[in-house]
Amino acid sequence: MKNIAIFGSTGSIGTSTLNVVRENKDLFNVVTLVAGKNISKLIEQIDEFKPKNIYIIDKKNADIIEKKYPNINIYYGEDGLEEISNLIDFDISVSALVGIAGLKPTYNMIKNGKTVALANKEVLVTGGNLIMQTAKKSGAKLLTVDSEHSAIMQCLNGEEENPIDKILLTASGGPFFDKAITDEITVEEALSHPTWHMEKKLQ
Ligand code: NDP
Repeated sequence: MKNIAIFGSTGSIGTSTLNVVRENKDLFNVVTLVAGKNISKLIEQIDEFKPKNIYIIDKKNADIIEKKYPNINIYYGEDGLEEISNLIDFDISVSALVGIAGLKPTYNMIKNGKTVALANKEVLVTGGNLIMQTAKKSGAKLLTVDSEHSAIMQCLNGEEENPIDKILLTASGGPFFDKAITDEITVEEALSHPTWHMEKKLQ
């Protein structure tokens, strides 16, 4: 049985994670749920998964939950996110807060040597060096959840015995879907994804 913490439990990745937990209740026990503003969904999740610790941004919502569930450890606000992400009572955490909000909590879990399944790629875009160096020092394990990253991680499994020469990354979907391989693409075209709003980052 693995104790699991879900950062972003009320979001798309968080609810998908809980669907997997629901199907595998003999394998996973939810200890921590972290949400932003969606108190009604969080309450449904508390009723079903009975976590020990929860976080919600606003104190007003935290007070409502505290009244309803006096035995749960409840965290809120900036300090609360810092505290709940420094708890070490889980085996694996899913880091699925959206955007920069995920950086500090993910850093804390990595610093504490925990296993983190990372969906939030913004954490690596904004703090990749820090996160990877900290993981090396602490022995934390970083697992990839996002599909492309996970595909690369799976290619690298067993790399010691079967060294890999090259990994080719293609960009054939999104704005490139209808293009021929010989078409030239401008930066503006590359950034205008049909589904996602993408910001420009130059390294
Ligand atoms: P959602 O917007 O659906 O969910 C975000 C979650 O984070 C919600 O639970 C939200 O709470 C919570 N949240 C947001 N800000 C805060 C905050 N300041 N403090 C606490 N909780 C907060 O995002 P997704 O699940 O779609 O994506 C999560 C991450 O995973 C992103 O980085 C995304 O790029 C990445 N990803 C997503 C994929 C997908 O298919 N959805 C695929 C691969 C990667 P609430 O709703 O209660 O306000």
